[in-house]
Amino acid sequence: MMCDRSYRRAGWGSWWSVLVVAVLVLSGGGAWGGEPLRVVATTGMIADAAREIGGPRARVEALMGEGVDPHLYKASPRDVRKMADAGLVLHNGLHLEGKMGEAIERMAGRTRVVRVTDSIDEGQLRRPPEFEGQYDPHVWFDVSLWGRVAERVRDAMIEADGSGRAEYEQRAAAYVALLAALDGHVRETIATIPASQRLMVTAHDAFGYFGRAYGIEVRAIQGISTDSEASLRDVNALVEVLVSRRVPAVFIESSVPRKTIDALVEGCRSRGHEVRVGGELFSDAMGKSGTPEGTYVGMVVHNAEAIARALGGLPPARPALVEEYLSKHGAKAP
Ligand SMILES: [Zn+2]
Repeated sequence: MMCDRSYRRAGWGSWWSVLVVAVLVLSGGGAWGGEPLRVVATTGMIADAAREIGGPRARVEALMGEGVDPHLYKASPRDVRKMADAGLVLHNGLHLEGKMGEAIERMAGRTRVVRVTDSIDEGQLRRPPEFEGQYDPHVWFDVSLWGRVAERVRDAMIEADGSGRAEYEQRAAAYVALLAALDGHVRETIATIPASQRLMVTAHDAFGYFGRAYGIEVRAIQGISTDSEASLRDVNALVEVLVSRRVPAVFIESSVPRKTIDALVEGCRSRGHEVRVGGELFSDAMGKSGTPEGTYVGMVVHNAEAIARALGGLPPARPALVEEYLSKHGAKAP
């Protein structure tokens, strides 16, 4: 709205208004004719929530795209400019953006910066001993916690653009209802895995909240952050678990190199146990934009169903809300 206002103040002719409206429409301006709220989010998952809740009122950009590892991502000068120019900067916090902490902190004096996880009760955050007193940042894999995050995003957008309150509230309510349906689907899906095989092994420890919420044991070669080396001892310890429990599959992640998982498969083979790669999970980054997995809901459905199938379960029919959402985002009927 800023340029619109200054043109009017300058008393320029009405053709300016026409031009301004045309520019706003071309640049994705809202249907109500205002300039959209510019939102910059660090991860795709946060940007997705902001897009759902903002609708046409917001122009949302994620700094990290498909396959990008947030633990290792460093803000470029271009990212810093984008954040400084935004009306709202949303980040995960809890040290997820481990190399961006300073850049985000510097933004706090220049624009509105919101840590979306600050809506989650501390008692609900995981604090695994191996992470030395820090909280586990991967909260998006407990869908009910992500519902709290969506509400925080809604409030942040209302704080930044109060005149859109009713629209933000309406869209957030619809999105939170979708997340509730998704939460139920994930729970039912994981419950179909035979109890003895309810163990998922991944490259890095992104699924702690998932395991806690949906009742599946989670083991990882690397710790909570990918910013650490997996040792041969860690690999051997996991091989032992996989062999002794006859676990049929392990999982690779789209944002983490697969070499440690390959080492596990090889280690099991040398002990006479065939373990296969049960598919690629989206852990710290969503899939390709324009595909169902390029949305938060699609990534969670993909993960839950891939895990269940690989470990001997059978995903049930998806709730209507979830199915409709996925087909709107390009999914074929299951
Ligand atoms: Zn991670």
